[in-house]
Amino acid sequence: MTDSPRRHAEIAGAGFAGLVAAVALADRGWSVRVHERTPFLRAEGFALTMHGNGVKVLQALGVFEEAVAGSMRVSRLVTRNVRNETTLTLTPPTPPYRVSREHLIQTLADAAKTRGVEIEVGSAAVGGTPDGVLELDDGRRLRADLVVGADGVNSPLRERSGLRVRRTPLPAGGAFRVMIPRSAAERAEEPGDAAVNYEYWSGRRRIIANPSSRDELYLALSCQAHDTTGKTLPLDVASWQRAYPHLEDLMVRIHRDADWSRVMWSRFEVMKLSAWSRGRLAIVGDAAHAMAPDLGQGGGTAMVNALALAVALDDHPRVEPALRLWERRERPLTEHTQRWARIYNHSTLWPESLRTWVFEQVGAWSILRRQVQRPSAHVPRGYLAKGAGHGPGPPRVAS
Ligand SMILES: Cc1cc2nc3c(=O)[nH]c(=O)nc-3n(C[C@H](O)[C@H](O)[C@H](O)COP(=O)(O)OP(=O)(O)OC[C@H]3O[C@@H](n4cnc5c(N)ncnc54)[C@H](O)[C@@H]3O)c2cc1C
Repeated sequence: MTDSPRRHAEIAGAGFAGLVAAVALADRGWSVRVHERTPFLRAEGFALTMHGNGVKVLQALGVFEEAVAGSMRVSRLVTRNVRNETTLTLTPPTPPYRVSREHLIQTLADAAKTRGVEIEVGSAAVGGTPDGVLELDDGRRLRADLVVGADGVNSPLRERSGLRVRRTPLPAGGAFRVMIPRSAAERAEEPGDAAVNYEYWSGRRRIIANPSSRDELYLALSCQAHDTTGKTLPLDVASWQRAYPHLEDLMVRIHRDADWSRVMWSRFEVMKLSAWSRGRLAIVGDAAHAMAPDLGQGGGTAMVNALALAVALDDHPRVEPALRLWERRERPLTEHTQRWARIYNHSTLWPESLRTWVFEQVGAWSILRRQVQRPSAHVPRGYLAKGAGHGPGPPRVAS
């Protein structure tokens, strides 16, 4: 393949990174095919927080209104200690949204299809070569100007790329996520489309609770990998009630109302690569830079970098230098985000008193708050200053 005007990309993975890259490349004149291993676009059924940077990516792609329809704005981020005392309150400059993952994936997939992107489900990639071949498990070898590994944290494309990988498990271990109906009292307390995101700490366990719609409450319960009672599914009510006496009723509701057939415990880990590309093969999203979920930035960063990938390929006529340019531009902020998410994650190991003190300092010192909020305040490369949110069309790329 040559770097001809109608360039072609093969993308492995129809998650946030893969679909944003697909839409952004198609907007810039590429023909694109996406391969998703699962037999349907993965509808995980949970929610995620989309901070300001992710919101701007959605605006740049013209899908913002649709993507956040029915979701909740996060008015404040409140952290509480074991005594249920507030230790930190953050009001983000741009309000984040708590969005249904299923809905977001569907919105991005629809946008991709509208732009002529082909999405093949049940199509598993097994490798990608630096000279631009995507290898599939059915034996096909597809040639492209660009091959993108957006195939998540266990990426086979990354593993077979020859790039050096450093994969580090995190002290907070992992989490399971559930959705349950909001109670009448909760709906009455926050009746609009904005709600507080609570983070409840107790020793080495943590619960994040925030409505993802007017009717549903999203919860992520995290504990260390060796905390077998904490990891037990369905929830071990007595053990979690002991850790959270002030949330006794919530534990009963979680146990009663969650759809346990869909719940699993996910491990937290950090991914670092020697480089994000090799030849015409680019690795993006969790595959390249999975991070601690503590800043709620894994998905947002995946989307920012996927959009920036398309921008760099527009800015430089040749694929390989464009990929190096992309990494030079985006990697510093990504590593900053990984670093601060990791520091936050390490606070799991701190004594309660130290954690309370540090969170209070973050609240008191704007220099610390700026570090934590830098990723969400970031204006993604490719964000359209004018015309954002108005659907497909030739983009005017911000420099
Ligand atoms: C508990 C928890 C809470 C989180 N909360 C947030 C949050 O609030 N906000 C946030 O921004 N992020 C959050 N994250 C992180 C976020 O989920 C990830 O960063 C994000 O999903 C990464 O997107 P991705 O597209 O890179 O990978 P994925 O979402 O993993 O998508 C990869 C896709 O590739 C497909 N695939 C895999 N292998 C192959 C293959 N061989 N061939 C073809 N397709 C393949 C998969 O099926 C999947 O569809 C959280 C993570 C965890 C664990």
